[in-house]
Amino acid sequence: MSRPAFDTVLIANRGEIALRIQRACRGLGLRTVAVFSEPDRDAPHVRLADQALCIGPAAARDSYLDQAALLFAAELSGAQAIHPGYGFLAENADFAERVEAAGLTLIGPPSAAIRLMGDKIAAKRAMRAAGVPCVPGPDAALPDDPAALHDLARAIGYPVIVKAAGGGGGRGMRLVRDAAALSEAVALTQEEARRAFGNSEVYLEKFLGHPRHVEIQVLADHHGTTLWLGSRDCSLQRRHQKVVEEAPAPGIPAETIAAIGESCVEACRRIGYRGLGTFEFLVEDSAFYFIEMNTRVQVEHTVTEMVSGLDLVQLQLRVATGEPLALRQPDIVCHGHAFECRINAEHPETFAPSPGRIIAWHLPGGPGVRIDTHMEAGATVSPHYDSMIAKLIVHGATRAEALHRLRAALDEMRVGGIDTNLLLHRRLVREPGVIAGGFDIHHLERWLAA
Ligand code: ADP
Repeated sequence: MSRPAFDTVLIANRGEIALRIQRACRGLGLRTVAVFSEPDRDAPHVRLADQALCIGPAAARDSYLDQAALLFAAELSGAQAIHPGYGFLAENADFAERVEAAGLTLIGPPSAAIRLMGDKIAAKRAMRAAGVPCVPGPDAALPDDPAALHDLARAIGYPVIVKAAGGGGGRGMRLVRDAAALSEAVALTQEEARRAFGNSEVYLEKFLGHPRHVEIQVLADHHGTTLWLGSRDCSLQRRHQKVVEEAPAPGIPAETIAAIGESCVEACRRIGYRGLGTFEFLVEDSAFYFIEMNTRVQVEHTVTEMVSGLDLVQLQLRVATGEPLALRQPDIVCHGHAFECRINAEHPETFAPSPGRIIAWHLPGGPGVRIDTHMEAGATVSPHYDSMIAKLIVHGATRAEALHRLRAALDEMRVGGIDTNLLLHRRLVREPGVIAGGFDIHHLERWLAA
């Protein structure tokens, strides 16, 4: 299947990922069109683009989430492709459909795949059918009959978790420890889901008490080649938000990862997946359980780039042009180990956002150190958007070496004028559980509580 090629890409995003995508485009000789909200007028993603268009005021719903404004900007600039990055409209199936209907190329999977994966019940059903291991629990909506609901929860075994089919961002979930709490938890989650996601459908699954978060990166072209590009461990989380990520997931046998990777590839083939994607799993007592698929480039794609030597965003753009992948599975090799720290403008203890003007900005360097950022001395961290100001990424021949480099880099980095979580990261990389690796998703919050 051949697709319309493109020479101009509109980047429907801001911050570090807008710059990351621009760099990938430039490397391929593609023209870039930036869009920006009024307060982002002087941002580097605007300055460095070939063309830039203002799409509205500060509030994201009036600018970066304004679908009509983005489509108009594409038409005005002559862009034939739109890269949504992550966040904002990246997993919005309606937007993807509008992009396709306008005859433009979305740098991402077909809208149908975004829609399928946006419904967690349908996604789970599709994954089971493809042989991807899922969390115990039915891939169907809940029975209306209260007795049948209780039978179902008992059959799964308490504790269970009620989850919204349309949920995302760690919202629309409720833990249920026993039968007495079931009916109310289901009703509350349904109501919450209806209000937050416009879809009250919920489902039940086994609650895993001490899982790790392990994910598999995939890449598929339009010519039948689908690859899995290794694993990442993103278990260091606070309130379901990832704080530190690493690749590969430590302590998991290569054969286990390969078997899971192959099942992800098979699932991609069955659902007609194209482009970059991530299968997220909870891993408990060496067993993998699929929880969701992200149909976009992720914040933490960088650690996979460091260990694979591949430019994932360039590959994503290249497959979107219809180019066949030259790589085959045996070409994908993991070299060494990588970490990523998300540096946020926030108080290191209260986690309150800390917008404001950056007056001092010193970045670390040296072998194996990479920084993805849109910040600089004199720049202002806006209160309107995500608080992430930089990603510090390090690579080493071994996990121990990477951790060593990470410690040195964190100690070297200086940000003045605003609060950041640098201090938290400096403590974390010296914490015995983090040094050992293989911790569960509650590790960070347990450590913070202590
Ligand atoms: P979202 O799309 O909102 O991120 P996920 O399905 O990815 O939702 O789940 C987010 C987080 O919720 C997981 O990383 C995990 O911490 C927790 N979680 C989800 N399902 C389960 C489960 N079955 N058992 C235990 N924790 C779960």
